[in-house]
Amino acid sequence: MKAFRTLRGFFVEHKWYYILGIVWLIIIDSIQLLVPQILRRATNLLQEGKLTYAGILKYGLFIILTGLGIAIGRFFWRNYIIGTSRKLEYYLRKKLFGHLLTLSPNFFHTHKTGDLMAHATNDIHSIRHALGMGIVMFIDSVFLTLLTIVMMVRTTNFRLTIIALFTLPFISVIVRKFGKVIHRRFRQVQEAFSQLTDTTQESFAGIRVIKSFVQEDLVIEEFNKVNRNNFEKNLKLVRVHGIFHPLINYIAAISFFIVIIYGGRLVILDLITLGDFIAFNNYLNLLVWPMMAMGWVINFIQRGIASMERINALLDEKPEIVDSVNAKELNSVEGKIQFENVYFKYPTSKDYVLKDINFTIEPGQTLAIVGKTGSGKTTIVNLLLRLYDIEKGSILIDGINIKDIKLKSIRENIGYVPQDNFLFSTSIRDNIGFAFDKAIDEETMIHSSKLAQVYDNIIAFPNQFDTVLGERGVTLSGGQKQRVSIARALAKDSPILILDDSLSAVDTETEELILNGLKSVTNQKTTIIISHRISTVKDADEIIVIDEGEIIERGTHDSLLELNGLYRYLYEKQLLEEKIS
Ligand code: ADP
Repeated sequence: MKAFRTLRGFFVEHKWYYILGIVWLIIIDSIQLLVPQILRRATNLLQEGKLTYAGILKYGLFIILTGLGIAIGRFFWRNYIIGTSRKLEYYLRKKLFGHLLTLSPNFFHTHKTGDLMAHATNDIHSIRHALGMGIVMFIDSVFLTLLTIVMMVRTTNFRLTIIALFTLPFISVIVRKFGKVIHRRFRQVQEAFSQLTDTTQESFAGIRVIKSFVQEDLVIEEFNKVNRNNFEKNLKLVRVHGIFHPLINYIAAISFFIVIIYGGRLVILDLITLGDFIAFNNYLNLLVWPMMAMGWVINFIQRGIASMERINALLDEKPEIVDSVNAKELNSVEGKIQFENVYFKYPTSKDYVLKDINFTIEPGQTLAIVGKTGSGKTTIVNLLLRLYDIEKGSILIDGINIKDIKLKSIRENIGYVPQDNFLFSTSIRDNIGFAFDKAIDEETMIHSSKLAQVYDNIIAFPNQFDTVLGERGVTLSGGQKQRVSIARALAKDSPILILDDSLSAVDTETEELILNGLKSVTNQKTTIIISHRISTVKDADEIIVIDEGEIIERGTHDSLLELNGLYRYLYEKQLLEEKIS
């Protein structure tokens, strides 16, 4: 139960909903107990030959009224308890999502997205059930059972009650045992279904590869396998349900059998009236549900606690990178960037990924970083954005160590075009205006898309800037994607601009156009351009060449060519490649 401490704030805030819900539940439980009493009176009058038409009408009306009372009460407790459990689901999901967003990228490298999704769906469902229906079942199994037994004893006698109740606890035991099996099989059904959707989704996403490799048969075979598995898992669940429900009815029937034999004898011997006997049977019927609830409630609460513990483990994860106590806001950034003796390794890597990195970029200057794939170029940018903290050395913006600057302030001042050019499945307008809380203004949007040389492409789409991207919209080419993400970074108009291999998917001609277009911007902003293509970096004020995490050459394009090192080698290789193609 301690697991639910995370929700204390929610419970305190919503305590009245729960209290009112429970009060309504108890009211209904009490009203339900009136029905057998009405039947009892009517039957007794009938037996005594005193029941008139007016009497029948009166008792009939009583039954309708209790029915109405129960219906109204159910509406209220459902709204108060189940409604609040839905709110709890909303609250918990919001809390979890908000918390996950504060965590560092490293957390997402070590946790699978599918697993996080399962937390946000299945686990939160179990918690909702435990704190919604679980509470209802608990109240019913305690109150309804006690009240009904009291009424049974009052209506007839203690002995008949004990005899009648003899088999009922077995219902709880069976529910508990079967509950575990049902739960396990239900999980398997869920897993089989998610496998089915995964397979289907991947087949459609990869349809071009499937067709070009003529592998339709293989994919159909794979699909049939998961489809059949889904069917079989469902069938297994149906089977266990098929045994479970009749078994419960059977046990209840045994109780009724005993009551008819023993109770019937009491009626014959005139020890109880026929009305008492009818009322007693009705009470017995009322007991079946709380007995079932008693079995379920344990399962529900156990599952709820297990899920809450899993969610708590996520909520207890601390962001690795947080603002220091004295972190400052940056006002009007000049854009000077310094790396001083920077050493870094990723939490999962053995050796240093960057070793003794030193450079200074003056405001408005451009630094280019070249090197082979995996040499550590993107890592430099990750460190400047403070997505990871360095081990040794220091990184400064305008002479201030980034550890002393608010994270938000660092990132707000950097326009970043990441290597993977991730775009959201919304409109191009929303993608370009992603940095803004409000809608981006038209002029900024058009200006930045022109600078990124993507304006003409966008205008050619029927919906222009309102074209929706992604699965349900237009699929952009690699080069178009890169240019939209350049436009997104330019629209932000920050003093520092980073282009991480952002021109790799455009041809050299477009590259030239973009670089020329960007000159007016890069002359004012401090710019870092990462590329493995020499043509992209040749005009930079300083070029550093990285190999295995170390700066091995530095200078301008001309001075580096004179050095006759890796830079010259890459340059000549690329010239040759261009000539051949
Ligand atoms: P580049 O940008 O030059 O292609 P990166 O900076 O992306 O290279 O990577 C440098 C090295 O760090 C590579 O060996 C890569 O495998 C490793 N690396 C990159 N990201 C991570 C990470 N999140 N965790 C562990 N190792 C990483």
